[in-house]
Amino acid sequence: MAKKTALITGILGQDGPYLARLLLDKGYRVYGLIRRYSNPNFSNTDYLGVTSGIEFVTGDITDEKSLMSIIKLITPDEVYNLAAQSFVGVSWEQPKTTTEVNSLGVLYLLHAIRSAAPGARLFQASTGDLFGNNSVGGIQNETVPFKPRSPYAVTKLYSYWMTVNFRESYGMFCANGILFNHESPIRGQEFVTRKISTGAAKIKLGLAAELILGNIDTRRDWGFAGDYVEAMWLMLQHERPDDYVIATGEVHSIREFLDTAFKRLGIDDWGGYVRYDSKFSRPTEVYTLLGSPEKAKKVLGWSPKLTFEAIVHMMVDADIARLSGC
Ligand code: NDP
Ligand code: GDP
Repeated sequence: MAKKTALITGILGQDGPYLARLLLDKGYRVYGLIRRYSNPNFSNTDYLGVTSGIEFVTGDITDEKSLMSIIKLITPDEVYNLAAQSFVGVSWEQPKTTTEVNSLGVLYLLHAIRSAAPGARLFQASTGDLFGNNSVGGIQNETVPFKPRSPYAVTKLYSYWMTVNFRESYGMFCANGILFNHESPIRGQEFVTRKISTGAAKIKLGLAAELILGNIDTRRDWGFAGDYVEAMWLMLQHERPDDYVIATGEVHSIREFLDTAFKRLGIDDWGGYVRYDSKFSRPTEVYTLLGSPEKAKKVLGWSPKLTFEAIVHMMVDADIARLSGC
């Protein structure tokens, strides 16, 4: 049987390399969309050992012509759209760029697939941030109304509905993964989990004296990126396209993350090392994100494997190894 072909946008970010690893192991031919760089950074694909297995193509999610040519050339069976301005904090400073990439970029991609490979299946990386502070009994599932609380979430609301709309209007196989926070040793440095794992490792190694954070009383449902890319793949293997919350169903505060990270390094009392700076607080905050993975469990047979503690330990251990030059 001919190899299946997949195109992954956002290949050099966190999820792209994990997804590439999964698809290469399944025998896929994997194309990765990268932007034009003076100095491309393959450290994340190197970390997962997938750089040489990926066929890189140059384009930009905000440049419809580039998407059209690439999709015409590859005619992929599956497209995974992971490209985004994915950092909530920056979306207040750069709302226009965030909109161009996260909203219009998805529209361009949908158009390109529709005209050049209408049979291709599309996974769109949506977010638990769509819910904002809305929940039913503290839990967010597919029936909870969206109420975005950041420019980032608003841009993702547009792409969520545009994805649904192409599915309904043109019968295309388009699916949204409503992804809750997911982490790994290659998580972007500015996200709070990675900031903590790197910061704690630096303090332990005597490379830093303190860790400066914003509001540490918020709570998140943190999973492992390696588990979440499996859900993305399962969504595209199902006979019907649909939208799914992908989450662990467990919530922890940033204080608990700090506790677990510092304890891993033998530091029980981290209070003296952590300082607050309002510049890391946000104009509007989502206090708690807690998703229900029940639908994904029932329909896709997916469930997360790594526990909260295992994720924190993995990230801290990896940062210690990296900073010690191991
Ligand atoms: P990252 O920020 O690590 O990666 C995003 C990728 O998008 C980067 O490789 C970046 O490329 C690429 N990108 C940005 N702008 C463009 C553009 N104009 N054209 C082409 N590529 C572009 O995100 P994650 O891997 O963590 O997340 C993957 C997806 O899942 C994102 O859409 C994110 O919003 C969504 N998501 C993630 C969650 C999480 O907890 N990780 C939770 C909910 C949703 P470059 O390397 O050139 O900068
Ligand atoms: P998000 O859920 O996608 O916004 O993921 P982040 O990791 O960026 O933020 C998670 C939570 O940590 C949010 O409630 C932030 O306000 C909070 N937080 C507290 N201090 C920091 C910080 O220094 N950096 C970041 N990124 N978030 C912080």
